Amino acid sequence: MIDREHAASLDASDPLRAYRDRFLLDNEVVYLDGNSLGPLALSTEERLHDVIRREWGGRLIRAWDEGWLELPVVIGDQVGALVGAAPGQVVVGDSTTVCLYKLVWAALALRPGRRQIVTDVDNFPTDRYVIEGVAAARGLEVVWLHGDPVDGPGVAEVSEAVGEQTALVALSHVSYRSAAIADMAEINRVSHNAGALVLWDLCHTVGAVPAELDRDGADLAVGCTYKYLNGGPGAPAFMYARRGLLPALRQPVWGWLGRRDPFEMAPGYEPAEGVTALLSGTAPVLALTAVAEGVRLVGEAGLEAVRAKGIALTELAIALVDELSELGFTVASPRDPAGRGAHLAVAHADARAICARLLERGVIVDYRRPDVIRLGLSPLVTRFVDVWDAVAEMRERAA
Ligand SMILES: *Cc1c(COP(=O)(O)O)cnc(C)c1O
Repeated sequence: MIDREHAASLDASDPLRAYRDRFLLDNEVVYLDGNSLGPLALSTEERLHDVIRREWGGRLIRAWDEGWLELPVVIGDQVGALVGAAPGQVVVGDSTTVCLYKLVWAALALRPGRRQIVTDVDNFPTDRYVIEGVAAARGLEVVWLHGDPVDGPGVAEVSEAVGEQTALVALSHVSYRSAAIADMAEINRVSHNAGALVLWDLCHTVGAVPAELDRDGADLAVGCTYKYLNGGPGAPAFMYARRGLLPALRQPVWGWLGRRDPFEMAPGYEPAEGVTALLSGTAPVLALTAVAEGVRLVGEAGLEAVRAKGIALTELAIALVDELSELGFTVASPRDPAGRGAHLAVAHADARAICARLLERGVIVDYRRPDVIRLGLSPLVTRFVDVWDAVAEMRERAA
């Protein structure tokens, strides 16, 4: 049996332990949902207050020319540094869903004549729906991968599914359910061999797991900023497009701020140079401010340290859940830490009822149909004793 002392000793030697106190967190609550909505950093509140008073309040419209207009690209580069993207390839703007729509549409326009989009039945719902919607509008076919529910779609399945009709392969890098990490480099390679483009969803990657978009040959990517980046509810998502694709890439929402010289207000749309052409309308300045601070904190902590703690937290959770196998709990995430993100899926036949009881006890986790309790272990704020306390409650509430 692993005792609470052991978890406390892991906290005592945790190089990131000081970060928790820089967030507003109720000590009566065990918050294991930072992968759905990251908590509020105190410095984010301060920075927002400053931008509201000094920039919005004080500078008013002049602030657009004093830095606001560039924010989507400037913060895009900062996000890009966390996912292996060199500057000039990332912008922050719309919701993940809208970013997906824009990039799926843009990818298809680069592969005219090809009739199929490959994705995975266990992909996040909004990804599936957007893909189905664009396919329906354009008369294309969705080819569904049926990967292993724990390990996710593998290279072999993708390789078998792609062919001369494949325009786009769209997958999540880290599965929102099982936390399985896809083999990005190999999936890019087999898809490119078939002439297809690849679009990655990095929602459960960014700020928790390193990615190497440039090195691994990704074409396009999206990801959210309100999960591990702690950008706040509804914080805007980001889009990545590989530099080589940018000159020909055309997204479908032709807004003025994606146009060349927007303030000329000229007739007709001409895309801006570079990644700016992925933008559409006015940037959400306050939300971007919170994103910038969230990104800054992860950068300050260091992605390597964040990743190492994510692994250590999930390893502890696995060891604790393994002690509950007689109560019907099983680990439904990959056991190899190299293939697992920063959350853990725990399966139990009574998962729904157990999650409801945990919530009543102040242990905030996610229920995912049909039988998964998802523990989101956010390295900047989750303590090892939080993991211990949550699993102890799971033991109590299963009985
Ligand atoms: C959270 C999440 C989303 C969210 O999409 P929104 O448009 O931000 O609501 C999309 N995809 C994945 C994989 C997610 O985990």
